[in-house]
Amino acid sequence: MADNILVNIDDEIREAYLKSLKKQKINIITKAAVTKIDKNKVIYSLDGGIHEIPTDKVLLSVGMRANTEGFEHLGFEITKQGILTNEKLETTVKGIYAIGDVNGKYMLAHVASAEGIIAVENIMGKDSKIDYQKVPSGIYGTPEIAYVGITESEAKKEQTDYKVSKFPLAANGKSLAEGETDGFIKIIANKKYNEIIGVHILAPHATDLISEAVVLMELEGTAYELAVAIHPHPTLSEIIMEAAHGIIDKPIHL
Ligand SMILES: Cc1cc2nc3c(=O)[nH]c(=O)nc-3n(C[C@H](O)[C@H](O)[C@H](O)COP(=O)(O)OP(=O)(O)OC[C@H]3O[C@@H](n4cnc5c(N)ncnc54)[C@H](O)[C@@H]3O)c2cc1C
Repeated sequence: MADNILVNIDDEIREAYLKSLKKQKINIITKAAVTKIDKNKVIYSLDGGIHEIPTDKVLLSVGMRANTEGFEHLGFEITKQGILTNEKLETTVKGIYAIGDVNGKYMLAHVASAEGIIAVENIMGKDSKIDYQKVPSGIYGTPEIAYVGITESEAKKEQTDYKVSKFPLAANGKSLAEGETDGFIKIIANKKYNEIIGVHILAPHATDLISEAVVLMELEGTAYELAVAIHPHPTLSEIIMEAAHGIIDKPIHL
């Protein structure tokens, strides 16, 4: 129904991913509303017309909503998004915390786990907060997509003084050896310190690769740390080091 798929990811990553899906003969129809599924036919409206597609199988995936039924008597505020919590994960009733999908903030398993730890620390008297700017996300397609931090369009919108460095898989030895050269990494750093503020990867194993960037961002690290850290060869992880060199000056193997 939306104008595009994956609207929250970096524009360049989405464009490259769409190209790769097209190459795999996957047809994406946007701005269309499914009106009926009739045996093996999916019927949808688009541009004022009714269309249909014959199918073998239909997988329906229309988003998620917090299930807040059964908690009404506890008296805390529940919004359309979910149970309202503050940055310490406490609800509007003192001493009651809500973590995971039910608070509607980030509906991801690793966020639910991290929020659980934060909430317990607060219950035990610590002053813990979660930094949602450093939550990694993964899309398990072919190739995979993973990202953390801000996208380039967010950097533009926030008027951040930023730099971008990209490095293609086609210039990475392991990717060439494996015959998987579709994809790239894009690093966004602030101009003043070269601090890494966004990392976006389209590559096989992108969801494994992203953790290096998450740790670095947790340490408020810069492109210098990423570039001087010796990365084993041949590995996909070298694309991170190469792109970091590109923030400072230029990638070596390009
Ligand atoms: C198809 C699908 C794919 C996903 N893929 C990913 C992924 O790749 N990566 C990722 O990070 N996240 C993924 N998620 C999201 C992830 O599953 C959730 O973010 C995560 O499970 C949230 O954990 P939770 O503990 O908050 O909720 P849940 O795991 O939903 O646990 C809530 C539990 O509460 C129980 N419950 C509900 N109501 C009541 C009640 N009234 N009384 C008692 N018990 C109740 C439920 O039965 C359930 O066991 C996916 C979700 C779906 C649906």
